[in-house]
Amino acid sequence: MKNIVLLGATGSIGSSTLNVLRQNKEAFTLNAIALNQNLDVALEIIQEFNPEHVFISDKNINTEHPIFSSGSKILTCLEDLKVVIQNPAVEIVISAISGFAGLQSSYWAIEAGKITLIANKESIVSAGDILIPLAAQTKAKIIPVDSEHNAIYQCLLGEKDTSAISTILITASGGPFRKLSMRDLEAVSLQDALQHPTWQMGAKITIDSATLMNKCLELIEACYLFNLPESKIEVATHPQSIIHSMVTYQDGSTIAQLSNPSMEVPIANALGMGDRLPIKFTVLDFSAMSLTFEPIPAGREAIFEMAREVCRQKGSLGAIFNAANEKAVQAFLDNEISFINIYEVVERTFNHFSCSKLTTIEDVFDYDRQARIQAEKVI
Ligand code: NDP
Ligand code: MG
Repeated sequence: MKNIVLLGATGSIGSSTLNVLRQNKEAFTLNAIALNQNLDVALEIIQEFNPEHVFISDKNINTEHPIFSSGSKILTCLEDLKVVIQNPAVEIVISAISGFAGLQSSYWAIEAGKITLIANKESIVSAGDILIPLAAQTKAKIIPVDSEHNAIYQCLLGEKDTSAISTILITASGGPFRKLSMRDLEAVSLQDALQHPTWQMGAKITIDSATLMNKCLELIEACYLFNLPESKIEVATHPQSIIHSMVTYQDGSTIAQLSNPSMEVPIANALGMGDRLPIKFTVLDFSAMSLTFEPIPAGREAIFEMAREVCRQKGSLGAIFNAANEKAVQAFLDNEISFINIYEVVERTFNHFSCSKLTTIEDVFDYDRQARIQAEKVI
């Protein structure tokens, strides 16, 4: 039995992870979960999985809630979360908190040398220069959960190193607005942006998919995770979301990973760590499908150019790019700005800063803070 800590248990990735665990009960023990404020869902998880520890981030929760008499130890202090993550009995930490809020716990998991399953791409984008060398030092194994990165991870299995890679193609569903021009985007509403055609996800990543900022974050994530220059990473729209990414090698072979769009597939792969865990899945019906590819929709070049600049220079630029986007997305969700303004907030904030070297994790928190202040001014 492997002991697991599931961070972001009440979210979309959390729920898909629990589905995988449910189908593989004999292999894993859910030792601890973390969430922000969704106590009702957390209570259901406790009743089914009986985790020893439950960390709740929100300080304004109802202290009369039945979760407090559920039998699990309820923790609300961040230092306790560190102890839970770094507990020597814990083998695997799943980082699935949304946004930059997930960085601190990803850092603790890697610092303690845990097998760290990364769904929280914002950790890698903001702090890749700190987390990747730290993992090498502590022997923490970082396994990608993001479907594209897990696909690449699977396409690399059995290869000696990444030097034989010619190119990687990251696929994008294109989101709900793939057929819209930048001008059309001026009229889209929050409801339109929250309707993703192929994936069911949390609100922040759903907006990122609509702007295509998600794909920009994934480009940076791939650069760090696979130690590749941006010039070897291509992005294309693949509206069916069946091929999750592919790798072309210098001998002319291209290897792809395919499945119906369900996050349970990459999660099962990551949790299996070399073993193929059994899960229920919908079989691909090749006779009934056509797989198509298109360039990224016109007009979105500026955000991709910024992402490529982050990949080239690294350092503080990832934290700045990510923070600008998080502030802009939150302002859009709060009805303070329109959809199209997200691009302007990101671009103007990003262009305000130059690249600095990151030395410690505190530097990342500092650049994140500075970029949020600047983004607020732009908003
Ligand atoms: P959700 O919004 O659905 O869930 C977020 C989870 O994080 C919830 O459990 C939430 O708790 C918890 N949370 C938020 N803030 C904190 C905090 N400060 N401390 C502890 N827990 C917190 O997001 P998703 O599951 O969609 O996404 C999670 C991450 O995975 C993101 O980084 C996203 O980019 C990435 N990802 C998601 C995919 C998907 O299909 N959903 C695909 C690929 C990557 P509460 O419920 O109480 O608010
Ligand atoms: Mg993805």
